[in-house]
Amino acid sequence: MSEPITDFNTLGLAEPLLKAIIESGYTTPTPIQAQAIPLALQGNDLMAGAQTGTGKTAAFSLPILHTLLPLASSSTSPAKHPIRALVLAPTRELAIQVYDNIKTYAKHTPLRSLVVYGGVDIKTQTPALKNGVEILVATPGRLLDHVEQKTLSLSQVQFLVLDEADRMLDMGFMPDLKRILALLPKQRQNLMFSATFSDEIKKLADAFLNNPTLIEVARSNATNENVEQKAYLVNTDQKQRFLVQLLKQQATQQVIIFTKTKLSASKLARALERDQIPCSAIHGDKTQKERIEALDAFKAGAISALVATDVAARGLDITDLPLVINYEISTSPEDYVHRIGRTGRAGAKGIAISLIDEDETKYFDEIEKLIKKQVPKEKAVLAESGVPRSSSTRASTAPRTSVNPRSNMTTRKTGKSEDAWFQQPYQPSTDHASKQLPMKAQNNKRKVVAALLGGFGFKGSAAAVTASPKKQAGKGRKPEPVESNTSTSEALPQS
Ligand code: AMP
Repeated sequence: MSEPITDFNTLGLAEPLLKAIIESGYTTPTPIQAQAIPLALQGNDLMAGAQTGTGKTAAFSLPILHTLLPLASSSTSPAKHPIRALVLAPTRELAIQVYDNIKTYAKHTPLRSLVVYGGVDIKTQTPALKNGVEILVATPGRLLDHVEQKTLSLSQVQFLVLDEADRMLDMGFMPDLKRILALLPKQRQNLMFSATFSDEIKKLADAFLNNPTLIEVARSNATNENVEQKAYLVNTDQKQRFLVQLLKQQATQQVIIFTKTKLSASKLARALERDQIPCSAIHGDKTQKERIEALDAFKAGAISALVATDVAARGLDITDLPLVINYEISTSPEDYVHRIGRTGRAGAKGIAISLIDEDETKYFDEIEKLIKKQVPKEKAVLAESGVPRSSSTRASTAPRTSVNPRSNMTTRKTGKSEDAWFQQPYQPSTDHASKQLPMKAQNNKRKVVAALLGGFGFKGSAAAVTASPKKQAGKGRKPEPVESNTSTSEALPQS
């Protein structure tokens, strides 16, 4: 094995890209970047094991931009800007986030990028498509809507990226993917990213990749060592009360609480609000605008709890979240890995707490098999006063490492937690202007831990690209999959 690459300059990337990288505050390639960029530049197909948060977007977009650069044109003619790279992402939020990054990396080049996703009026996306764009980020359903409306052509695609491929399969995108792949030129480079490597994913890779090189930055299905995992055994009918007590006791600044269904997400969010816990639900029944508003409020610290379904939470770009709670245990063990991967980023410590009721122990057993680890469990004890008596959620077990030294939050709670760690501010990512400095400031710290973790922390804002029209578009075709209202599976109703 050769020495790990620790300098962007040695990757051979074009000057305008290096300039954008420097401006983004990146000093060192993340492990996935160090591995993927040279291989992708050589034209290899890749199957990469990396979750969101590892720097995977730059890992695939920088080699694509570099390769496309000689073909870039400053002409205004749409014909000079055919779609040459197609990035498919499972959720609107992830698509927006990926686009946002690509736009940043391409800012000193004439290469154009665009994102299209469902849930907004398709007509608003057409003019930009018609102007011509080299890099298109899309959710599969909406891409096919555009194909049907003949608002784009995929005949010149040279690069295909399947981002969060495991999630695409979970969400039932296989038929859409097959249709899309049939529309692409056979001669192309394929880059597939997946947080987990199931047999299904391997089948997908066999079907669509051409002799891919396998790269992994961390053991697949591994959970981050920085995340302290723990579980409470709790009666179903006491779960909600216990959650409220847990939240109040911990005085947690920011927490994502996972539910299995849209219905339970909404119900729980309402219940928490009644208990004076500022929160919002984010799931597939919410409009794009509502989701972005909820996310922004969460990032800004205006609400401290975000109740989310697995689908909605995918790709959320949130910095250094200290706590994740699994309110309902997912029937899919991989979801657990994704869920708890929301915390413990960039070397910060995180806590993942699971509330397991009688019916869920079997699902949690599956999780433990997958992660090859026993999660410490204890019986939940409800206190009459509204504060749980269990001592183990407090100082003794909570990690003390700083989440983030920055503190410009105005809505910080001053709970009575005995654990100083929970009193520390969680720094939400804010806007574009503030993206660069904090990253720079954190880079030194990050580069040390990133090598160990195989990843970097989050920043950025999914709200960077907002689309106001609320009308659903694309009749007849399946646009974005959303979660089931009641079932445990993530069904895919038409929107
Ligand atoms: P991703 O996994 O692509 O979603 O990236 C996670 C976050 O890490 C994004 O906010 C990127 O801006 C940031 N990032 C990506 N590469 C680097 C790097 N080499 N150094 C520092 N931050 C990075």
